[in-house]
Amino acid sequence: MTNLRTIALKEAQNRTSPDVKSSFSKISDFFGQNVFDKKKMRDYLSKEVYEKLLSSIDQSTLLNSDDANQIAIAMKAWAMSHGATHYTHWFQPLTGTTAEKHDSFFEPSGDGPIEKFAGSALVQQEPDASSFPNGGIRNTFEARGYTAWDPSSPAFIMESKAGKTLCIPTVFVAYTGEALDFKAPLLKALAALDKAAVDVCHFFDRSITKVNASLGIEQEYFLVDESLFNARPDLALTGRTLFGHMSAKNQQLDDHYFGSIPERVFAYMVDFENEALKLGIPLKTRHNEVAPSQFECAPIYEEINLAIDHNQLLMDLMEKVAHRHHLRVLLHEKPYAGINGSGKHNNWSLITDTGKNLLAPGKTPKNNLMFLAFFVNTIKAVSEHADLLRASISSVSNDHRLGANEAPPAIISIFLGSQLNDVLDEIEHSRISKKIKEDNALWLGIPKIPQILLDNTDRNRTSPFAFTGNKFELRAVGSMSNSSSPMTILNAIMADQLTKFKTDVDKLIKKGDKKDIALLTVIKRYIKESKSVRFEGNGYSKEWEDEAATRGLANVKTTPKALDAYLTDKSLELFASTGVYSKREIHARHEIMLESFYKKLQIEARVMGEVANTFIIPAVVKYQNELIANVKGLNEVGVDSGIPLNIIKELTKHLEIVKTDIDAMLEERKVTNKIEDTRDKAIAYDEKVKSYFDSIRYHADKLEQIVDDSVWPLPKFRELLFMK
Ligand code: ADP
Ligand code: MG
Repeated sequence: MTNLRTIALKEAQNRTSPDVKSSFSKISDFFGQNVFDKKKMRDYLSKEVYEKLLSSIDQSTLLNSDDANQIAIAMKAWAMSHGATHYTHWFQPLTGTTAEKHDSFFEPSGDGPIEKFAGSALVQQEPDASSFPNGGIRNTFEARGYTAWDPSSPAFIMESKAGKTLCIPTVFVAYTGEALDFKAPLLKALAALDKAAVDVCHFFDRSITKVNASLGIEQEYFLVDESLFNARPDLALTGRTLFGHMSAKNQQLDDHYFGSIPERVFAYMVDFENEALKLGIPLKTRHNEVAPSQFECAPIYEEINLAIDHNQLLMDLMEKVAHRHHLRVLLHEKPYAGINGSGKHNNWSLITDTGKNLLAPGKTPKNNLMFLAFFVNTIKAVSEHADLLRASISSVSNDHRLGANEAPPAIISIFLGSQLNDVLDEIEHSRISKKIKEDNALWLGIPKIPQILLDNTDRNRTSPFAFTGNKFELRAVGSMSNSSSPMTILNAIMADQLTKFKTDVDKLIKKGDKKDIALLTVIKRYIKESKSVRFEGNGYSKEWEDEAATRGLANVKTTPKALDAYLTDKSLELFASTGVYSKREIHARHEIMLESFYKKLQIEARVMGEVANTFIIPAVVKYQNELIANVKGLNEVGVDSGIPLNIIKELTKHLEIVKTDIDAMLEERKVTNKIEDTRDKAIAYDEKVKSYFDSIRYHADKLEQIVDDSVWPLPKFRELLFMK
């Protein structure tokens, strides 16, 4: 009998790529063709309504129902001219994926069927959607959930072979108005940031009226052949391999990184990129990553709310398009133990409506003070709320990266590069003379920031939060996660910090300090106070762990404990002052995250048991029986060899441990499942159930090394990683 692995290998070997053709010769010809962008809005709307829509986007004001009706009619006309028959509110529930519930435009009427789309249907929907995680916010008797239009992210048409759907980005909230999604809190954090940042900008430039965060998201992923994927229940059900001995060759030679892209992968990349570009996702970069079969794509950065919508949409597209190519995309942070995992670097900066990047050092010393204010406030914000930032990137799958000696460690620190590090040291130790009367003399006291900085910043791949010339890069975000989670926190702590900064500076000015001296005095104090979070060395080293401990920096390695940071008094105060989460919302979210954590471990434990019991053990027994027959045969012909017997003993040894551990893990799960408190349950799953995984896997992988290759049922790492 042939096993699934053999069939899968045969299928994988005979793959050809589908034709990927674009009818356009250049990207600018089709970029954004499926987006109801400003240009199309202008074409389809009256000038008056168009202007109202723009100001509603800029100032977050509400549109009246007449205007909403006109916009809905325009959107429908545009969507139908592209062949869309349905529309959906598109949202981001706390499951981590995107959600949609389609309705058709079609409606029967007295004069025959027509296509309709009212302003009320554009602005708000009640998809019910009562099965999404809500952490107790929605009791069943008031289980209504509403989606509400976010006009700052343009509507788009999702194409599939069978039909086209108009998608309207929305927030998802409960009947009580409490957020049930990722987008609503992000928008609140951005509003708080805008206000606080504009206030600080006014110390320097009164013409600035809006500050927005920008974000460029680098997305790492693995690809694997569909048949091989389907022959691995662990990959198919948990997104990662729970078993598998490392391939003899893996990433030792670094020969995959930036290597020539395999044809089949290239066809896939071009295909999903074209789909993404049609949806206005400005994908720019593609390359091979460090691990075999690992790749990366990155868009040009955008306004943050849009960048995150685009990343969520991109992940969805990548999965859909992979099917056309008989590939599966693995977005999990750690699909394969022993080689690099995947992240989603979040490149973040602050940009004003006058087009200035507040994290870009300026040409004149005066501009530099403005840069320094935002730069140092970022460091101070992260230093004050490092625990929250850590919490915001935690998940069961990202636990495999953080603190696991390859990805950024679980200790939050900031890398500045030697030049800026020196600049901050210099300010810290300089004397700010209050007697200085002439501005010029004061400016001499501010170190000059070299102009070559942008092209010349040192890179530190081991830092979770690194300054890279004109932006910070949060490198610790998991490849699978919704960036809103860390970006809500980053922008909220920044908003809070900037508000405090303004208060501190105003106090000194009130006391009689000149504005610039007041600014510099507070900056200097912040540099001192936030010093312990700065680290320029190797973040993966044991020495850093020790040093971080002496500096008092937290090093929380697992999710259930990291999540505690959401509920501290300090965090609750921050959420209240910025309006990002109510107490009830954050408690609900905390509960949801813990639940998701242990449920995912529960699934992994079950899959592990099933694969061990019904794939691995039977294969081992089969091979054992062959060896037993061999021993008997050798005896019959009078050959005295200990080899088959020794192999049998070796197999039996590992087999017994696998079986004993699987059974013990099952017992432990029964105990753990009875725990009522969600946090205790999550910790017990992590510390008591998951702790069996390593041993079970170790012995199963030993068996893989011994058992006859032709009876081994699961595609091996060398096949998953190297089949081209
Ligand atoms: P890397 O060397 O880290 O790959 P890149 O220059 O390719 O750096 O940038 C990575 C991402 O950062 C891209 O998405 C890019 O558009 C984005 N990026 C560049 N400048 C900014 C900025 N000011 N704000 C936010 N993102 C930015
Ligand atoms: Mg980068």
